[in-house]
Amino acid sequence: MDDCLFCKINQNQIPSDKVYEDDDVIVIKDIAPKAKVHLLVIPKKHIASLNELLPEDRELMGKIMLLLPELAKAQGLDSGFRTIINTGKGGGQEVFHIHVHLLGGSAMPFA
Ligand code: 5GP
Ligand code: ZN
Repeated sequence: MDDCLFCKINQNQIPSDKVYEDDDVIVIKDIAPKAKVHLLVIPKKHIASLNELLPEDRELMGKIMLLLPELAKAQGLDSGFRTIINTGKGGGQEVFHIHVHLLGGSAMPFA
């Protein structure tokens, strides 16, 4: 996806503050953090939103779910954390490349 912000970040065409990377996923710090810790967990594959997920993405999304508590632990979020997936304009999605927000460490939105 040529005009996708997160694909460009994946390809290092736009700089980001990366905290984790493997063959399938990157994790970056949100540019406008809504909590002390605010990470974005982004699959390298371009998937626009939950609405575009395919059965073949099951393993990838399961991998992301398993990664979330590991990331939270690494960030010192021992008392818990919040995850958010915004879907579609009506769901508050601004970047149409699927991603999971991981928030914690202070007052958080959407209490
Ligand atoms: P959405 O509303 O699509 O769920 O969330 C998009 C998130 O991406 C927002 O929290 C926004 O602050 C973040 N964001 C937008 N542009 C950039 C960017 O260039 N770099 C980083 N690291 N985060 C961004
Ligand atoms: Zn993309």
